[in-house]
Order: sequence, then structure tokens, then C-alpha cells
Amino acid sequence: MKKFSVGILGATGTVGQNYIKLLQNHPWFNVIDVAASPRSAGKSYKEAVREKWQMSIPIPTEVKDLMVRDVQDFKKIPKDLSFVFSAISMLTKDQIKNIEYEYAKFGISVISNNSAHRWTPNVPMIIPEINHEHINVIPIQQRSNGFTNSFIVVKPNCSLQSYLTPIYALEKAGYKVNKLIITTLQAVSGAGYPGVPSLDIVDNIVPYINGEEEKTEKEPNKILGKVGKHGIEIDDSIQISATCTRVPVSEGHIASVNVQFNDKVPLKEEIIKIWKTFKSAPQELNLPFAPKHPIIYLENIDRPQPKKDRDNDKGMAVTVGRLREDNVFHYKFVSLSHNTIRGAAGGAILNAELLVANEFIK
Ligand code: NAP
Repeated sequence: MKKFSVGILGATGTVGQNYIKLLQNHPWFNVIDVAASPRSAGKSYKEAVREKWQMSIPIPTEVKDLMVRDVQDFKKIPKDLSFVFSAISMLTKDQIKNIEYEYAKFGISVISNNSAHRWTPNVPMIIPEINHEHINVIPIQQRSNGFTNSFIVVKPNCSLQSYLTPIYALEKAGYKVNKLIITTLQAVSGAGYPGVPSLDIVDNIVPYINGEEEKTEKEPNKILGKVGKHGIEIDDSIQISATCTRVPVSEGHIASVNVQFNDKVPLKEEIIKIWKTFKSAPQELNLPFAPKHPIIYLENIDRPQPKKDRDNDKGMAVTVGRLREDNVFHYKFVSLSHNTIRGAAGGAILNAELLVANEFIK
């Protein structure tokens, strides 16, 4: 199969660097375009990132000498570019929203990590194991914006990737969830580069992340919704209360979750079986970035731990443990996902693969 030529908006940032690393030798995608702010534009990629390069591998040879393009310079977009991954952080959400629209209008599809379009009703917000069928809202988006073949697809916030797939697996098995209380312990890489000042986070926990609790509580409503006539119809049947904290961990967001079911309550053994056997579209389609087991359950009493478990299945699996009965709700458990892989670049690459497999990207 001929590889698709892809670009990365925000290629010099934390998420952008993860794309560069993860797309090295990808069987379907080939990075030909790297774009960032005017500060980096006109420099080679290696000059633009310099000491900001945080990956454990050297900058891939096929990328290091690519000339960085200004994200807003449409004249320099390579002719054969198929689509872009977007991981820009700009001053305002509206600026990002407009830029992503401009790309789609220009005929270049956008698969985004940004929150700017998450609440645009005809833009699907996808975790492929949960709501893969939301890609069917794309024709509605294309008609209402006059896009010919291009589109915008987003992925949700990194804070909910760890707990939503295990919750969805239980709902899919017939156990409707009623209430969730969630406390997240989120890694510093989630704040981008240079992120939280070291003196604020070493030997400390910051019990606040701007905007994160709202995203953790509200984004599941759209993901669990369904495709309607004009866009995604919200499902707010689960009540969620979240507290989000920043902890001195480099990668891997943990969520401590208390769950209450509606009327049917599964046995503990049944929950573990549901999680261990859960599979969905990415596994059935055998997508290159699909984890073999999207949910890994660990029996050890002191797991999951970010350092030991975040890289499970190349950082794409959600690792769950400590399922036990709760004195107030029905159960509680701890879950973990790699924020810059599953929660950012890897999750978006899986979205792109899903869109190729369903011929939205041709
Ligand atoms: P980051 O490390 O701060 O990187 C920001 C990127 O945006 C850089 O490439 C930067 O280019 C570019 N940029 C900044 N200002 C710009 C401008 N005015 N015009 C064009 N490009 C500009 O941020 P990040 O952590 O990679 O996050 C990027 C996006 O992904 C954010 O919206 C974030 O919320 C989202 N996200 C992050 C994570 C995570 O775990 N980090 C997870 C999920 C989603 P220069 O190098 O030239 O300044």
C-alpha cells in the first residue's frame, strides 16, 4: 500500500514530538510536513526543537532536516499532503478553531488533539474502542461547511482515557452506570513543554488543573452520545464528579474511580472478565496502533503504577487494578493510561487509522 503523506501542526511541542517518534516506520503514514509557530518557521526541525527534544530516540533522519513551516502559511503546504495531525497551543481556542477550519476548507483533513472543536456538534470526538461509529457524522459536517472530502475529527482530553473505556465496557455488557466519582493524578508532561515549573511540582502535588475537571465531567457525555440528524446527540445519563490533580510523575495519568450502577450490579469476577475480554473496532480491523487487549487488568494489590505500567502494549492499553467493593458506591478501582501516547499522539494516530479503514481518508 502507498503511504499517506501527513503533516504535524505543533510538531515541535510535547505532543508533536510524540507524533514524530510514533510515526517513524508507521506502515501507512509518512511525515512530510512539520509546522509550528513563526518562532520556529524557516528553521530545520532539529534547529527548531534543539534542547526541547524530549524523546528517548534521536530525531529520525527523515524528519530532522525538514524545514518547519508556519502553521498559518498555506502557500507552503506540500501538494501531496493527505491530512494533518493538530497539536498546536495558541493564545485562544478561537484561533485554533479557525486554523483547523481553514485547513479543512483548504481540503486538508485535520485530526486534532486540541479542545477547540470538541463541542462543535458535527465534529466527532473519538475513542475508537468506544464510539467508532461517530465518524458517520462526518458527511453532516462536510455538507454544512461545504468541505468536499476533508473534515475535522478530534480526540478527547487525556484525563478521561484511563477510566472511560473500562466504564464503557461494563455498559456495553449490560450494566448501566449511574454515578462516578473520579480523582485523577496527572503527569507533568500533560502540561506541555516546559510545563509546570520544577519548584512547583517537585516534592509536591498541585490540586488544580485549569479546565480539566469540566472536561473530565462533560466530555464523556458526547463520547457516549449517538449520531443524530445535525450532529452528535449528548447522553448525560452518567453523573460524574471529578477532582483533577497534578503529580510529580513524567508520563501516565492515573484515575481513582468510584462507580455506582443503576439496578443491575455485576459480580466482581464478572467485571474483571468483561474487562479482560473486551475488544472493539480497532482490534477487529487489526489497525496497526490497536492494542491487542485495550484493557489490561492486573491482580497485584499495588498496581497499576505509572512507571511500571504506562507502556503496556506500546502505551496504547489502559491498565486497571484494585477493583474492590466500596462502602458508599458499588465498586472502586484504579486505572492508568499513557497521557502523551494513548491520551494524545497515539490515540490520534489510531483515529487516523480508523478513518483510513473506513475510507474517509483515501
Ligand atoms: P506544547 O509542548 O506547548 O507545544 C505547543 C506547540 O504549538 C509547539 O509546536 C509550538 O510551536 C506550537 N505553537 C505555539 N504557539 C503557536 C502559534 N502562535 N502558532 C502556531 N503554533 C504555535 O504543547 P503540547 O503539550 O504538545 O500540547 C499541544 C496541544 O495538545 C494542546 O492543545 C494540548 O492541550 C493538547 N494535548 C496535550 C496533551 C499532553 O499530554 N501534553 C494531551 C492531550 C492533548 P513553537 O515550538 O514554535 O513554539
